[in-house]
Amino acid sequence: MSMGNIKERVAYLQGLTQGLNVNERSAEGKLLINIIDVLDDMAEEFNNIQMVQEDLETYIESMDDDLTDLEDEVYEDIDNEELVEVQCPSCHETVSFESSLLESDDDLEVSCPHCGDIVYDSTLEIEVSDMGNGQVNSDFRYGIHPGI
Ligand SMILES: [Zn+2]
Repeated sequence: MSMGNIKERVAYLQGLTQGLNVNERSAEGKLLINIIDVLDDMAEEFNNIQMVQEDLETYIESMDDDLTDLEDEVYEDIDNEELVEVQCPSCHETVSFESSLLESDDDLEVSCPHCGDIVYDSTLEIEVSDMGNGQVNSDFRYGIHPGI
């Protein structure tokens, strides 16, 4: 039942009391008029609650949209993971790792998957030679040992 319908029906009852000449001079008339007044207040209150709920629904929908945008952005970032390439100082192999590791506040050490030497240490200044772009090789992932 819609709220508008309730208000219409209460308005109809109010009209009816006048049409039937129900008035507060009789006990029953007084009771009926007061009951209809209460119904009118309740219909108004329901109407207010419905408006608040509609506002909340709109707000939640906008938050849901924002969350979807955020998710898209996060997953897109993961898909477009940038690789940083450094040359191993010991064996001169090129070692790649995810650039996002560099953004971490934690101390980070990347060791060479070929010889095991440290090729990147976040506590030292090591020049990054090139920024590659591509998928992370899953085997390679295990070659990266974040510093302990
Ligand atoms: Zn090496």
